[in-house]
Amino acid sequence: MKLALIGFGQAGGKVVDHFLAYDDAIDGGFVESGLAVNTATTDLQGLEHVPQSHRVCIGQARVNGHGVGADNELGAEVAETDIDEIQHAIDRIPNHEVDAFLVVAGMGGGTGSGGAPVLAKHLKRIYTQPVYGLGVLPATDEGGIYTLNAARSFRTFVREVDNLLVFDNEVWRSAGESVEGGYDRINREIVERFGLLFAAGEVGHGDHVAESVVDSSEIINTLSGGGISTIGYATETVETDGSGLLSSFTGSDDGFDDGSATNRLTSLVRKATLGRLTLSCDVSSADRGLVVATGPPRKLNRKGVERGRQWLEDETGSMEIRGGDYPITGGNEVGAIVLLSGVTDVPRIDQLQQVGIEAKETTEEVRASAEDEFASLVDTGGELDALF
Ligand code: GDP
Repeated sequence: MKLALIGFGQAGGKVVDHFLAYDDAIDGGFVESGLAVNTATTDLQGLEHVPQSHRVCIGQARVNGHGVGADNELGAEVAETDIDEIQHAIDRIPNHEVDAFLVVAGMGGGTGSGGAPVLAKHLKRIYTQPVYGLGVLPATDEGGIYTLNAARSFRTFVREVDNLLVFDNEVWRSAGESVEGGYDRINREIVERFGLLFAAGEVGHGDHVAESVVDSSEIINTLSGGGISTIGYATETVETDGSGLLSSFTGSDDGFDDGSATNRLTSLVRKATLGRLTLSCDVSSADRGLVVATGPPRKLNRKGVERGRQWLEDETGSMEIRGGDYPITGGNEVGAIVLLSGVTDVPRIDQLQQVGIEAKETTEEVRASAEDEFASLVDTGGELDALF
């Protein structure tokens, strides 16, 4: 499906930048247009793939290109004030080509955390297409203010979008990695998962095995109904001649063996679901789901997707699990993407909210006592007068 991607803030811009590179690399065709909005000019300058004309610097009057310093209330105010500037940039996207909007932001900062929900609300008022959010949660060691920002932004963002796709930095970081190097790797993980999902809905009906290919309407239907979503992904390397066709030297290769292909796909669906999700949750709490098998057309079979789909039905107890495939010629990996939508049992969100509440209370207490202490510091018991 064709997306208008809008990255809000630093993380949002960088992820959109990665989406553009990924779409090019896999020839996915799922990006209609990629925009980046920020209050900090240096962040916009650091992007590589978002065209200059698609970079929008807002809040010049308030912050003069210097960012909002993790103040997400200011981020929201600035977005509201300068919404017309963002709209001008969106006006340049051929709207009739767009199946959905995807607003991407790190939820722990200021610009994206505050601005993304404001933009989502605006887009929903103007356009008939669905507006999705992709929200990145901060790692737990980033500190109270980031957690509080994320908890407040989450509450607002999820209300304003048709569905909030969530990625949790906490689960995806690795020990010993530099912050920048870490984000680079994490951003590639993000765009691979969400990119493959959206690219899957972009395969034309003239392509391979058209009848079982995932359609954009299946993605939209899985996401409709709101709430939050998470994605699992698992792959396995298979032998091919590089064109997606079976190597002529491996006569007994399981590519022609339907049973093995079926088993492989079914086990990939399990691995994707029970392995690392973009946001950990109790899978049985999912309301809807979508299973997409990816890889060389000869390695995909209908039965495998169907078995995987049925397994997910049993696992979630949901009757609304869709399935299909996304044939990719030229690769040697078979994979399964599992989209779980409308998940409600998410301990990480409960924890985020709890820590956010504690951070808010502590901040208020510290502020109140700092005010008292300062008052007593300057108080001379009436012995000294101020100059004026
Ligand atoms: P903003 O520019 O004020 O919106 O704030 P940032 O986007 O810089 O930061 C918000 C949060 O996003 C941080 O707390 C991090 O958790 C996360 N973050 C920042 N940069 C990246 C990135 O490149 N990738 C990912 N996955 N997360 C990031």
